[in-house]
Amino acid sequence: MHIFDFDNSYARLLPHMFTRQDPAKVPAPKLFALNEDLARDLGGNIEALKSPEAAAIFAGNTIPDGAEPIAQAYGGHQFGQWNPGLGDGRAVLLGEVITPAGKRFDLQLKGSGRTPYSRAGDGKAWIGPVIREYIMSEAMHALGVPTTRALAATTTGETVVREAALPGAVLTRVAQSHIRVGTFQLYAYHQDVNGLKALFDHTAERHFGGETNPATVLRDMMTRQAKLVAQWIGLGFIHGVMNTDNMLISGETIDYGPCAFMDAYHPHTVFSSIDHQRRYAYSNQPQIAVWNIAQFASAMIPLTPDQDAAIAEFTGIVNEFADLYQTEWRRVFAAKLGLKPNDASFDLTNRLLTMMAEVGADFTNTFATLGQPFDHPDYAQWLKDWTAENPDLDLAAKTNPQVIPRLHHIEAAIASAIYEDYGPFNALLAAATNPFTKNDAYMSPPTETERVRQTFCGT
Ligand code: AMP
Ligand code: MG
Ligand code: MG
Repeated sequence: MHIFDFDNSYARLLPHMFTRQDPAKVPAPKLFALNEDLARDLGGNIEALKSPEAAAIFAGNTIPDGAEPIAQAYGGHQFGQWNPGLGDGRAVLLGEVITPAGKRFDLQLKGSGRTPYSRAGDGKAWIGPVIREYIMSEAMHALGVPTTRALAATTTGETVVREAALPGAVLTRVAQSHIRVGTFQLYAYHQDVNGLKALFDHTAERHFGGETNPATVLRDMMTRQAKLVAQWIGLGFIHGVMNTDNMLISGETIDYGPCAFMDAYHPHTVFSSIDHQRRYAYSNQPQIAVWNIAQFASAMIPLTPDQDAAIAEFTGIVNEFADLYQTEWRRVFAAKLGLKPNDASFDLTNRLLTMMAEVGADFTNTFATLGQPFDHPDYAQWLKDWTAENPDLDLAAKTNPQVIPRLHHIEAAIASAIYEDYGPFNALLAAATNPFTKNDAYMSPPTETERVRQTFCGT
């Protein structure tokens, strides 16, 4: 069935960079979510996508015309430990879609069965992580954050065994590409200059206007990451698993496993059940980003003619991250206060965040209701000083969301979806994709009993 115009350039790279791999067949595909707006942007055949056969495509049973499914190889530093044996272990890239506007996007099925990179895993996903990623990634998009998207979600009619027997599901993910820091690292690690060169040229063509100088690509990639992480920080977002295989060269957010938007603000907040060292805590994210960028820089050294000179040059570039990030951070928080980035807004931001941390104020709601009092002895003075700066309240309103998908609402949506009640999922998705519109049902922080304390790397 023709649903998209495919052109699969990654599958034309060197044969060892991927494995041809069809998705597994599943017994009873049922489509429970289709992102029609995104499908239209991608130039999809909407009639076909709304037909009963669409479920078979999005569950992996039918390969759409023009797709050439592959699993991509990659490596990565997981919690700082190098692992050369990663890759698409529970996903296949169906192919690259060319949109009517001439843009190229990956279409990937996630939870579509075992591949040569599955290691001990079953290659499957249950409905929980599929729902979490669907809502989180679409919310991030609506918030203006570069991110992978969710095109569709199906159940499979299979049972996936995790802590219990749970309904199996497949997510269709859309991304500018799935090229990761860890993809570059894999070929650098194997001293595979041909692989590295093929990957660099491909990446430069797709994301950097055909740039040939690795230093320029590095600086551009770093700038995107600085902006991205500053946006996360400005939203109280904790990615949770910023391994180098979970950082895309394109600068989009990827991997909505253990992520969360904070409720009560504290800079050291961690949700991930496996992040014992608090490596990926909220406030550590810029440091981790630059660490990952340094890995990307190292991986590109073999591409350069004079490696000593390249090391010096790349080191200089990576050292610019702190200033770049600081500028972005000031800009993001100044806008949240309805102010221009200057010394006054910087001071007001720091004072507000200090007060918020001291009383555990709700991150989203504090900014969404700026000017409304909260219980801190220094607040009255802060309010006076902020008001004296003549804040632009429209700018603040456009910058501060009213609704973010809170963990307890996501958990509730998952709990219902297990029993095929998608009402809570659809309602939360609608609220989270209109984040600047008040929606009383989704604006309250969790009560003590509703509070979700831990997240898990969705498998
Ligand atoms: P992640 O923690 O989501 O970044 O995944 C890390 C690696 O583990 C990737 O190579 C995944 O493809 C692989 N992986 C995660 N879950 C599974 C699974 N259920 N089956 C096979 N591979 C998996
Ligand atoms: Mg991952
Ligand atoms: Mg993951």
